[in-house]
Amino acid sequence: MEALAVRETPEMPGDIEITDITAEARANPAFDGHERIVRAVDMAAGLHAIIAIHDRTLGPAIGGCRMWPYESEDAALTDALRLSRGMTYKSAMAGVPFGGGKAVILGDPRTGKSGALFRAFGRAVDALAGGYITGEDVGVGVDDMNRAAEETRHVLGTGERGGDPSPWTAYGVAVGIEAAVRHRLGRDSLAGTTVAVQGVGSVGYKLCDRLAFQGAKLFVADVSAEAAERAGAAFDATVVAPEEIYGVKVDVFAPCALGAAINDDTVGRLRCAIIAGSANNQLREARHGDLLRDRNVLYAPDYVINAGGAIALTLQLHPDGFSPERAGERVAAIGWTLAEIFERADREGAAPGAVADRIARERLADPARRAW
Ligand code: NAD
Repeated sequence: MEALAVRETPEMPGDIEITDITAEARANPAFDGHERIVRAVDMAAGLHAIIAIHDRTLGPAIGGCRMWPYESEDAALTDALRLSRGMTYKSAMAGVPFGGGKAVILGDPRTGKSGALFRAFGRAVDALAGGYITGEDVGVGVDDMNRAAEETRHVLGTGERGGDPSPWTAYGVAVGIEAAVRHRLGRDSLAGTTVAVQGVGSVGYKLCDRLAFQGAKLFVADVSAEAAERAGAAFDATVVAPEEIYGVKVDVFAPCALGAAINDDTVGRLRCAIIAGSANNQLREARHGDLLRDRNVLYAPDYVINAGGAIALTLQLHPDGFSPERAGERVAAIGWTLAEIFERADREGAAPGAVADRIARERLADPARRAW
């Protein structure tokens, strides 16, 4: 892999400052051998972002851009590092020739967005000369990526390039829930299966739609009471308070909000047989995967089950172009990948997350994985 160039950008409009912070980021416990980390600041545009590139063994780093009112730059850096590492593993397990990266913009997506901000972000991505390809994540939508695309071609999820990935993510999670239910509960249908969905935003709401269509009985929670009520009414779902969703007695708990839903406070409250949802970094720490296994809760590794959107978007870069049939087939294969992980985990007496990590590392070491 060639050294990653950062193009200096004095010719760019605006006064964007891009600083390589890889060396100082090494002290962060989530560093995990990251290849490169930069800070991008454009005071005039209100941009303060961190872009983390974890690993490009299989190809250019892909990973969305999150906008969030982080308490500090250190908190933003930790989030970027954890998310970009997850993208490396996600790409490897999804069978696409890409690596892992992530961008985070420090700011409130409800009040802090502007066209200038996302154009400045686009210039920062462009300065990485194709080493990192961006897209949407929490707080960032298609319109924002359209603005970024005015400054760089290294962007997916624009109106012209794939759009909103969440329908594909929801499809992959639904397929993954079916695989988990088959493995743990021996059922071939979701009819009558109870599912608690935490967070009914872009992915969670569409997941509810699929599950309700298949006859599942739903419980929903969201910190936005309006969002929870809307899903409750649309899918005949029982609305519960955000803090109570962990303790609902269900077959499946589906975390579809933010990360670290499974932690020391919540793990003892769970009354589910399966955890399978879209959120990234569902386990606060890897040891929480072992705690789930000790409690006989089957965990579908997050970066495997939530890869549907990434699979569909990267197909925009496939030599034969995107086709819904190809995307559908590849996203449906998430179910087979999970079935293999669950079986291997049972055989080895290991947590599924540890098994998935191992398979991902095997794939990173396999040169055949560097092409479609
Ligand atoms: P979103 O912002 O549209 O939805 C998240 C929802 O969760 C919101 O309605 C929010 O109010 C709610 N929420 C936040 N904190 C909560 C809490 N403590 N309890 C209950 N509800 C809470 O985001 P999204 O695009 O639906 O993504 C959801 C998760 O899935 C994120 O972790 C994201 O990183 C992950 N993910 C999304 C995609 C995608 O295609 N959008 C792909 C892969 C992974």
